[in-house]
Formats: sequence, C-alpha cells, structure tokens
Amino acid sequence: MNLNFKDTFNTELPADPVHENTRRQVMQACFSYVKPKSTANPSLIHASKELAQELGLTEDDLKSEAFKSLFSGNLVLPGTNPYAMCYGGHQFGNWAGQLGDGRAINLFEVNLNNKQWALQLKGAGETPYSRTADGLAVLRSSIREYLCSEAMYHLGVPTTRALSLALTGDQVLRDVLYNGNPEYEKGAVVCRVAPSFIRFGNFEIFSARQDKKTLKTLTDYTIRHFFPHLKEGTKEGYLHFFREVTHNTLDMIIHWQRVGFVHGVMNTDNMSILGLTIDYGPYGWLEGYEEGWTPNTTDRQYKRYRYGNQINIGLWNLYQLANALFPLIEEAKPFEDILLEYRNNYSTKYLSMMKSKIGLFNTDKNDAALLNRLEENLQLTETDMTIFFRNLNRISKDNLSNEDYLAPVMDAFYVQEEVKGDTLEKWKLWFTDYQNRLQKESIGDSQRAERMNNVNPKYVLRNYMAQLAIDDADKGNYSLLDEFFQLLKNPYQEQTSAEKWFVKRPEWARHKVGCSMLSCSS
Ligand code: AMP
Ligand code: MG
Repeated sequence: MNLNFKDTFNTELPADPVHENTRRQVMQACFSYVKPKSTANPSLIHASKELAQELGLTEDDLKSEAFKSLFSGNLVLPGTNPYAMCYGGHQFGNWAGQLGDGRAINLFEVNLNNKQWALQLKGAGETPYSRTADGLAVLRSSIREYLCSEAMYHLGVPTTRALSLALTGDQVLRDVLYNGNPEYEKGAVVCRVAPSFIRFGNFEIFSARQDKKTLKTLTDYTIRHFFPHLKEGTKEGYLHFFREVTHNTLDMIIHWQRVGFVHGVMNTDNMSILGLTIDYGPYGWLEGYEEGWTPNTTDRQYKRYRYGNQINIGLWNLYQLANALFPLIEEAKPFEDILLEYRNNYSTKYLSMMKSKIGLFNTDKNDAALLNRLEENLQLTETDMTIFFRNLNRISKDNLSNEDYLAPVMDAFYVQEEVKGDTLEKWKLWFTDYQNRLQKESIGDSQRAERMNNVNPKYVLRNYMAQLAIDDADKGNYSLLDEFFQLLKNPYQEQTSAEKWFVKRPEWARHKVGCSMLSCSS
C-alpha cells in the first residue's frame, strides 16, 4: 500500500499525556493515543473501489492481507499514531459533558491531489472515552452506516464516506430494544473517511471547561486546514468561520429534506463542523411523507429529531456552537446576526429546493402557498415521498383531464381507496393549481422532467432494504449488500433491472424492528 501519510490533527494539536487505555476525563487535550483492538478472525466483506482510488489505493491493495488487517484494526502501520478525539455534546437538549470517540479510532490522515482525508475505524475497541460501553459495533449497524453513507454521497448530500466493511470474528452482546433481552451479534468494523471528523462538540468541551487556550488552538487548526481562505487568530476570522459553518449546516439539512433522510440523533456531538452528515445510527428514510416522523425509538416521546424539525434543530445546535466559540469573540451581537441570517436563508433556500422538486424554476408569489398545500395533502393519507416526487414529472403542462390528474402519482398512495371524498377534492384542487402554475414556466415538459429527475431520486436506501441486506449478511450472504451498493451509486438514473426497489414499503416492514423502529443500540 502506497499511502501518502500526512497527519495534522495529532501532530498540530495538544495530546493527552496519558497513554494508558483507561476511561477518564481528559483535560487540555484534543485527543488520546490509543490502539485498535486485535480481533479473533477478521474478514473483509466489502470495500469501495472508487473511494479507495481517491485515497491512492489500488484494486490489488483491496485484496491484500494488509488491507484486511489494517481496516479491521489488526495492524498499525509504522509511522502512524492512532488516536481517539476528545469532545463533548448536548444530547437531546442537555449538556452531557465529555463524550469523545468511544468506539472510533483515527488511524491516520493521507493527502492526495491536495485533498486531505482522515481514516477512522468505527467499532475497533475501547478508548479512554468509552464510558460504560465496549467500543464495539455490530454487523447490523455497520451495514447501515456503510451503505447509507455511500448512498448519501451519490445523492449529492454532504457526508462522511465509507471505505470498507469488515467482520471482526468476535461476538458482541447487544440489547436491541433495551428491554432486557441481550443477544450476541457479529462484531464489525467500518472504516470511515472524511476530510475531518471534528464535531461541534469538539469546541463545546473546551468552553464548558473554560479552557480558552485549547479552544483557540483547535479553532485556529480548523480554520487553517478546512477554511484556508479565512484568517486564523482574528475575531473577524472566527466569525467568518462560524458563518460558513452555519451555511454548510443549513445546506446539508436542506439536502436531507430533499431526499427524505431523517438523521435521528442530531446531538451536537453528531454535528460535523464541515457540514457533513456524520454518525449513521438510528437514521431512517421517509416512506410515507410525514413531518412528525422519527425513526429513533428513544425519540418517540418528544420527537425532537423528527423530519419536520431538523432545520430548527440545526439552528439550536448552532446556538450551542456559538456559545462554545463565544470566548474567542466576547461579543454576542455578531453571533446573533449570523444566527438570524440562518433563519432568513432557511426560508429562501428551503423554498427554492422544494420548488425544484416540483419543477418550478420561475418565480411566482404564490409558490410558497402552493407548496404548503402540497405538504398538507401529502399527509392526508400515507403517501410515499420518493415515488410521489419522482413520478410528478409525468404531469404535463397541458392535456390534464379531470379523470386522470391523479393517475401519474397514484402508485405513491399506500391505500389508494383512501383517496376519496374531501381528500380527493383537495388533490384535485392542488393539481389544477399546479398545472396552471406550470403554464407560467418558461421550459417545456421534457426539459422540466429532466431537471426534476436530478433532484428527485428514483432509488434511496429504503429502511426495509437495509434490513433485507442485514438479514442476508447475518447468514453470510452479501449479494444483496453488493446489489444495493451498486444500485445506489446512480440514484437518479432509471435502472430497469432495479424497478423492484422503486416500490412502497411492503406491509411486513411497517412495524418491524430495524425497518421503522430503530434504537441507538449499535
Ligand atoms: P452516538 O450519539 O450514538 O453517536 O454516541 C454518543 C457517544 O457514545 C459517543 O461518544 C460515542 O462514541 C459513544 N458510544 C456509542 N456507542 C458506543 C460503544 N459501543 N462503545 C463505546 N462508546 C460508544
Ligand atoms: Mg456519535
């Protein structure tokens, strides 16, 4: 393997002087050195050729013993110094103190074509930040992270990537529903890749501890490497940095709304400072369009992280980041102004994204109202989000007769017989107004359809699809996993052989654990 190592995080930032792998509070340091755990019988399940190439790895590398050993945690390459990051976070609205990489171990950073990448193993054993847990991950959750992060990437959603998925050969005890029924599951390790894994929580921990010095060191490091056009060491630079983080965060969440992705645990320790989707846990994909939906069973009561609340939570999390960066500026007003900007941008960016989903590119003062009514209608009966928007491009500017106006999107309704009476009237009215509105568009049907296909995916990782791949993989069969991995590389393209994955959730998956109900147990 010919990797161009270029460590920065563990060479430029203060390290924890203690080298023992014991659980502790780590002060005035950004990370602790720790080695991955050796595993019983590692085997590689899957690897991403495309990502490997970006890192400077060849196809032969992927087949090598060294690759398997390295990315299952059984090899530390000479000259590299693996470490776990120290961070804190607000979990479900409350300050949780020190969290840190409890089961993630950063191996090294590489630099290729002027791009910096950090490679990190998830599930490679305990670290000083493991608190009461074991530092391991199971196959089920590792498949979910592996498939979804790559699927998101190909959807054009900013995200961390996944290079490889390996079995450890160890058994891991998990109580999936937290109801006193723990069972052994197969242990697995995913190698995740991103320019950086720094989170809001990395900054929060230092201001919570009134450690302005380390806070400043970390902020300067972040600006230097990831916002090089800004000036480190100045108040102005810090504020510009904060502003860019708010923009990136908003853009990321708008993408989530566009594709129907619900993160499920938007705690500040799961918010990337680069605006990347990070930590694929109990996430889910909208099947029926429902603003109140959350996949996370832990969040069922208050639904803090529901689909329709993600943009607000982004703002709430940015307030916490503002508080964390405050000591570097010591003035509240500029932060408040930037946060206000998020609110304003939110309405315009959200509107323009939603307009693109229904193929409106010109401006009309009633567009927001038209979209509001659409969102209400979509929730009158269970309506598949992906199918509805994908098929909406079949509506023509002209020639819509009273009988067939629903026909193009009929497949999206879970129970077609429910679409009657008042509901039917509302749809009829909406489609009439929509068609009238389309008349004002300057482009024609086919051009509009094409543009809509670039924002409305045909294929997403439906919750039950991930579960099917998991059920097979548990039995040692990885063909479905590979099928989905390949399918989701081209989510906007028609793939005739994959039509069977452009269907509504089957009835068996409605209440099944892993499909509609997910816990943080992973
Ligand atoms: P999450 O919100 O699931 O991303 O995790 C919150 C915190 O718990 C993070 O600090 C994780 O590193 C830690 N954590 C989650 N699962 C484990 C585990 N099995 N072992 C150690 N730490 C864990
Ligand atoms: Mg996390």
